[in-house]
Amino acid sequence: TRSTRPQRLLKAVQKNATRGDPQSVISAIDHFCRHSEWAMNIGDEKVVNELNPEKVLELGTYCGYSTVRIARLLPPGARLITLEFNGDYAAIARQVIAWAGLEDKVQLVEGASEDWIPRMKEHFGIETFDLVFLDHWKDRYLPDTKLMEDCGLLRKGTVLLADNVICPGVPDYLQYVRNSLSYKSCYFKSHLEYTKAEDGLEKSVFLG
Ligand code: SAM
Ligand code: MG
Repeated sequence: TRSTRPQRLLKAVQKNATRGDPQSVISAIDHFCRHSEWAMNIGDEKVVNELNPEKVLELGTYCGYSTVRIARLLPPGARLITLEFNGDYAAIARQVIAWAGLEDKVQLVEGASEDWIPRMKEHFGIETFDLVFLDHWKDRYLPDTKLMEDCGLLRKGTVLLADNVICPGVPDYLQYVRNSLSYKSCYFKSHLEYTKAEDGLEKSVFLG
């Protein structure tokens, strides 16, 4: 049977990237997505560089591209938990993350965000997150944000970074973070990964 796109992406990493070199893994994936097949990674245009977060949550791992981009910049001792409910994608991502040599910094958790967010405290000993990257299915951005609030996972200063707020778009989420007094929110214009279509990130700081 024909291989899947994530399997072909992993092959490109294994063929073209150096083990233990996150930048080469990122470059190999970018090259594959630009020249072979588009894939829903955050891409090489949007920059994710919140200063020195210690505890990071990523919603939506896919093949682990953004996981590698974020984890490689983390200070020693910092931890990134990434959630993915598709077992096939999670299996690929695990290998991509290991290829980049980042398995010590990254905990990939298989399952749905709505099931795992309420278990972060008891299961992973997380008090609050410093940075949350939202990049899973777009109808979950708003309910999962409210769930994180209810579970006490956000502190004053926690940064929510939401991808693809224009394309495909998350109008209910934007309406919420832009109008709520609990957030200071701003938009960073960019483009949909590997295309010229307008898209952007919304950065929302929780004010407590
Ligand atoms: N962050 C990745 C990157 O930039 O490289 C891309 C993530 S992709 C756009 C979205 C992923 O979220 C898919 O792999 C999908 O299976 C996963 N997903 C969607 N809804 C989810 C949920 N509620 N819980 C866990 N994973 C979810
Ligand atoms: Mg995205």
